[in-house]
Amino acid sequence: MKKRVSLVAPFYNESGNVLEFFRRIAAVADSMPQYEFEVIAVNDGSRDQTWAELLEARTRFPGVHLVDLSRNFGKEAALTAGLDRAHGDAVVPIDSDLQHPPEVLEQMLAQWELGAEVVLAQRTDRVTDGKLQKLSATSFYRFHNRISNIQVPMDVGDFRLMDRRVVEALRQMPENHRFMKGLFAWVGFRTVTVPYIHSNRGAGTSSFNFWKLWNLALEGITSFSTAPLKIWTYLGLGVSALALLYATIIVLKTIVSGVDVPGYASLMAGIMFIGGVQLIGIGVLGEYVGRIYHEVKRRPVYLVREEHCNERINDAR
Ligand code: UDP
Ligand code: MG
Repeated sequence: MKKRVSLVAPFYNESGNVLEFFRRIAAVADSMPQYEFEVIAVNDGSRDQTWAELLEARTRFPGVHLVDLSRNFGKEAALTAGLDRAHGDAVVPIDSDLQHPPEVLEQMLAQWELGAEVVLAQRTDRVTDGKLQKLSATSFYRFHNRISNIQVPMDVGDFRLMDRRVVEALRQMPENHRFMKGLFAWVGFRTVTVPYIHSNRGAGTSSFNFWKLWNLALEGITSFSTAPLKIWTYLGLGVSALALLYATIIVLKTIVSGVDVPGYASLMAGIMFIGGVQLIGIGVLGEYVGRIYHEVKRRPVYLVREEHCNERINDAR
């Protein structure tokens, strides 16, 4: 019995990359005939020709399992849809924009055969990123790892090989808000890292702009840490202590040297500062309450419009 390897690829407006993606995967599958490969391609509500191209690709590579989501649910949901359908003994999420070279699979599978349950592909370069992108990524990981119980490794994305056991563990996670990097780290398991070079995108542009990344960062922090909630207790204690000290000083000063009317500036400064601090506190609270609200509704993570599945990629050809 050959071991089966599932590749899970989310597609969002990837028209132009589809055929090339399958060509690369098929070449890699051919070079490793000791495994049976299956590809689960999830179309995440693309607005361009991606779905048509996927259907077209399926006539050439009939082993592909196609899933069409009813709208754009986001990469994390698309990955979840793919993981739910992956049957492999090893499962590898991979970007469909050709930034994750499928050739790295060979090293990943070798590590897996040696007993690793998770093989992380770690990018050894960030040449395709701008300075600001680099800085924001670094600061996010630092901040996240400092305040969370789980450690998300740097320069590691969703590109990783997972043993069946790890996938089953992931599928047991019931949450709707799925910060995949965090969930991957949360489940643990024996992990090794292999280096890879992050390629430039094939066709198209990245769909993660600054605002999306900021929200993803918030998602990551609120999913795995309550430190932003707790900090207000200590901040409140600190501000109250200072206020008490200052109150004592001005009361004593008034008793000693009589009523001192001026104080407009310090009064305004105090009111505005405390008001601002309170608003920030309420905002942080809101981030969590909003997430609780979404979570308790228990809506499905994704909805499927259409699905085509059959055998694996290399015994169909
Ligand atoms: N993607 C998706 N749904 C989205 C956004 C992105 O399925 O809403 C997919 C996209 O097709 C690609 C992967 O997620 O395969 C990574 O997206 P992208 O290349 O835009 O992000 P970046 O590589 O810049 O982080
Ligand atoms: Mg990309």
